[in-house]
Amino acid sequence: MLVLVLNAGSSSLKYQLVDTKTGEAIASGLVERIGIDGILKHEVGINKKLTFEIEMPTHKEAIELVLKTLTIYETKVIDSIDEIDAIGHRVVHGGENFKSSVIITEKVIKQIEELIPLAPLHNSANILGMRICQELIPGKPNVAVFDTAFHQTMPPENYLYAVPHEDYTKFKLRKYGFHGTSHSYVSKEAIKLLGNKKDTKIIVCHLGNGSSLCAVRDGKSLCTTMGLTPLEGLIMGTRCGDIDAGVIPYLMGKKNMDPHQIIDYLNKKSGILGLSGISSDLREVIKAANDGDKRAKTTIKMLCNKIKRFICSYAGLMGGVDAICFTAGIGENSDLIRENACSDLDFMGIVLDKEKNKIRSKENREISAEDSNTKIFVIPTNEELVIAQDTYKLIGKG
Ligand code: ADP
Repeated sequence: MLVLVLNAGSSSLKYQLVDTKTGEAIASGLVERIGIDGILKHEVGINKKLTFEIEMPTHKEAIELVLKTLTIYETKVIDSIDEIDAIGHRVVHGGENFKSSVIITEKVIKQIEELIPLAPLHNSANILGMRICQELIPGKPNVAVFDTAFHQTMPPENYLYAVPHEDYTKFKLRKYGFHGTSHSYVSKEAIKLLGNKKDTKIIVCHLGNGSSLCAVRDGKSLCTTMGLTPLEGLIMGTRCGDIDAGVIPYLMGKKNMDPHQIIDYLNKKSGILGLSGISSDLREVIKAANDGDKRAKTTIKMLCNKIKRFICSYAGLMGGVDAICFTAGIGENSDLIRENACSDLDFMGIVLDKEKNKIRSKENREISAEDSNTKIFVIPTNEELVIAQDTYKLIGKG
């Protein structure tokens, strides 16, 4: 079955055409700057890469172009859009309504619409993607896969905020957590690597531009670092992560900001970018630190300390940890961050093998020392595969 996996953002669109039989991505790409000018970077196989710079005023032109790259141009991999069996959409916020993936109906779209206040930019873009696919690829089923669904197993003591309870019952104010498809995929891979052991205690460190940790107990999310929105938790590319709520009115006063501006500031100007004053791209900050930049060095220390604090906290919550898994852009590629996040944890039985940690690979791999009680793995995430497989499962049944 061929599934077109779509991840529609406010001005961007990631896509992959996945063959669910092999799990392979036949073609993939990223459209950026929708509504500004428009650029599409398309990949077929490992070697064929093409860039199109075409005006894309809306997501409709962007998806039209994606379909053309799949069916017409020299990048063609299928003869017609009829060969696409279904479309799987990544949806950021499923609130408490969605505990697993669902086939998209008008009722489902309405429910996702109702969640827009919780993820204004993301859920609106996701709905737009669904509507356009219904129009451009008529008659084919669409499936929604939610970033929040995996975390719906968290118990109330881990998802409630310590504010009056009616804020939860009236306004649905609670921790939801994100990166669910990634945490689910990586923890399942880890369970396999642990020999399908029962009663597992796993910590997944999804470290990318957006980052979160998840404590996975027996394959289920027990706690995660992101909250009502993706702003909570770790220090990220441009997000501040956990801060004292008192910072918000203080900064609003000092900088004369309204609520919209302060949230924008904490989401887009803070984190690695704000701390280092260099970039949100950790590679550039690591380079500056190697050249002696003090702020860059402090940024890296803060980032790693925060990861370590959550590792310890989650190990405590689960009463131990069988495996710590690193994934996503930073987790898969930065031996420096992995080494520092795991340093000085030998008292807990967590010992990294520094040499194994330096080996670069795209495969699942173990980087813990022989005498480590806890396994440490690098597991490349594959959110698109999870979306394609969920789509297949639902459509197969349907
Ligand atoms: P997103 O959350 O947007 O999907 P990714 O998971 O692709 O992001 O991660 C992107 C981030 O990974 C980049 O911002 C970059 O800082 C980081 N990254 C990629 N390669 C390396 C590396 N070798 N060393 C450090 N950081 C890296």
